[in-house]
Parts: sequence; C-alpha cells; structure tokens
Amino acid sequence: MDRNGTPAVELDGVTRRYGETTAVEDLSLSVQEGEFFTLVGPSGCGKTTTLRLIAGFEDPTRGTVRFGGESVTGVPPEDRDVGVVFQNYALFPHMTVGENVAYGLQFSDPPDGGSDESRVRDLLELVDLGGMVDRDPDTLSGGQQQRVAMARALAPGPDVLLLDEPMSALDAKLRERLRVQVREIQQELGITTIYVTHDQEEALAVSDRVAVMRDGTPEQVAPPRTIYHEPATEFVATFVGDNNVLSGAVTAVRSPDASDGAGNGSGQSVADVTVEDITLSVALNGDSGPESAVSSGDQLTFCVRPERLSVEADRNALTASVTSAEFLGDTTRVHLDWAGRELLLRAEDPPTGTVTVGFAPTDAHIVDK
Ligand code: ATP
Repeated sequence: MDRNGTPAVELDGVTRRYGETTAVEDLSLSVQEGEFFTLVGPSGCGKTTTLRLIAGFEDPTRGTVRFGGESVTGVPPEDRDVGVVFQNYALFPHMTVGENVAYGLQFSDPPDGGSDESRVRDLLELVDLGGMVDRDPDTLSGGQQQRVAMARALAPGPDVLLLDEPMSALDAKLRERLRVQVREIQQELGITTIYVTHDQEEALAVSDRVAVMRDGTPEQVAPPRTIYHEPATEFVATFVGDNNVLSGAVTAVRSPDASDGAGNGSGQSVADVTVEDITLSVALNGDSGPESAVSSGDQLTFCVRPERLSVEADRNALTASVTSAEFLGDTTRVHLDWAGRELLLRAEDPPTGTVTVGFAPTDAHIVDK
C-alpha cells in the first residue's frame, strides 16, 4: 500500500466474456504496493485472463482495472508500467543474453538514468547470471533462460511485475530453486508482483497473499497460512493440499464450560455432528461469524488435514481399513476406507489392516459447502 493506502493494482467488478464463455466473472481484487500476490486455481478458472486484463492485452467486458487508483481503461500494455513474463519465455534466439535484456529497454530509457549496458549488467547480476551477457540463449538451461526473461521484463523498471506460469516448463527440482530466487528478487526490488500458477504448493511457498480462483471468481483471498489452516470453502480445503471433508447433522452444541469436558480445555464451544451414525465433536472456532450461529439440526461440513488424524487420538475415533499407502520420503500418505469414504492419513510408520484414527475437536475446521 502506498502512503495514501491506494492499492497498486485494483480490479473492480471485472467481467471478461468470450462469446458464450465467461472467463472472469465480477472479479474484485486489490493488490497492495510491494505485495507478492498469487492467483492459483485449476485449469480454465480464469487466471491467465485476469493477468492479461491487468497487463492490458485484454479489455474487460465490464468493470474497471486501476493502477494506483487511476483507471487504465484504454491504456495500451506498453504504457502501463508492467513487466510480463510468460510460460514460454520466448527469448530471441539470434540475440545474445545481453541483447535480449536490452530489448526490454526498447520503449524507455533505464530508470536509473545510466546506460543501457550498465542496466543490463546490473539486471544480470540481480538474476544471478553475471558474466553470461554474451552467451546465446540456447546455451542456457531452462531456469537460466527464464531468469533472462525476468531481467528483460524488469529492464525498464516497471511498477508491476506479472508472471504467468513462469516455471511450468521446468522440472520439479529446478522450479523449487527458481521460485526461491524469484521471491528473493521480488523482495530485493520491493516490486508489486502478480503471479499465476496452477501449483498450490508454489502459491503457498512464495506469496504474501493468495487468491484461490474457481470459475472466474476468487473463492478466498488470504495469506498462505490462512488459506491452508482456515480454508473458507470445501473447494479451497481440497484444492490446497490434502484434506478429509466430512458432513453431517448437528445434534448438540455444547458451551466450553459444559460439565462433560466438551470444551476440552480450548475454551471453545463444541458441536456434535453425526456422520455415518457416529457422533464427532467439532470445535466452533470463535464467537463471531457463521460458527457462532451453529445450532442443532444444521448441516455442517468440516475438514481435518491428514496430518491431524492420528492413530493415538482418543477423541472422535473412526475405525477404518487401510486400502493403500504411498511412500513420500519424509512421510507416507495412507488411504483409508471408512464407511465407504476415502480418508487420508499421514504417518511415519504406516499402519496396515484395520486402524482406528481420531482427531482433536480443535483440529476440525468448518467450511462452506
Ligand atoms: P490454465 O491454467 O489452463 O492456463 P486459466 O485459469 O489461466 O487456465 P484462462 O486461460 O484465463 O484460464 O481461461 C478461462 C476460460 O476462458 C477458459 O474456459 C478458456 O477456454 C476461456 N478463454 C480464454 N481465452 C479465450 C479466448 N481468447 N477465446 C475464447 N475463450 C477463451
């Protein structure tokens, strides 16, 4: 946020249609100055369209895009002060690395008032490619080429950096390394960055805030930890990481001071929810919002992360059978069948056969269906 609190980039009720297809629907978002903001979601949810609307490659069918509080309607991409990096980094093969970066200065002089040569040198240092100025792009690795593309986008000193799946062509190990570098460069420059990815792990790893998109609209916009631990909806709960989602009817709501110990020391009210004839206790976090209004007879959907299910828990016991296990290195993802539903458990020593798992009421998180 700048000194006046004006967002760096703002979408206000933006819709983009292509014929019968609505790519983006009534989207309102504010990205603050210096923020690393990520749009994540499944294929076709409107991430790239949103980025193209911000860049100016597309016009909204309805709504307004603002930069620093000013509408940019009708402003072409080259006048928007944005740097864009696409998935296919499209370096010019007949130009050296240095010439590729200098190409980013075709519409403007270096922002620091120095020469093109010194700007190119500084940017190549920034992306950790100092000394490669005379190399041909096709002699670089994919990750190095993507860093050249980033240097080229940063050359004119844009206010906003837009990155569209910049790592999806790279292998997993390289992506992990490069995402750390991208975050470091963003922090060093303090540049407002909007990042598109379908990879939820990547989104959690690099962002200040994440918008989880579905069908052209964000389902939740929040910092990574909130997205993971307090998903607003069932879609967010299952799109971001593994989750167990259960639904049932509330049979009782008990206050924290109930004499049967229902509050389990957490100071929270607890709802008893009947799922498949078993009564499970779910803590109602907080005394405001929808959870404060839960009452008997309501239908409640809640989730419990696989790492929160435990074979040692003595509350909320579910007896299930192990159907398969995937060894992941640091842990094993165990698939369980409970009353015809699949549950996931994370375990260091995976059980076999029949197993009883449980969870603390406070490890259950209520979501919107
Ligand atoms: P992916 O992760 O697969 O790139 P995305 O979330 O970036 O997907 P978009 O590319 O924004 O999704 O597309 C959103 C929807 O709009 C899709 O249904 C897509 O087919 C449609 N769409 C996007 N661009 C156009 C276009 N130029 N003409 C027609 N339909 C389009």
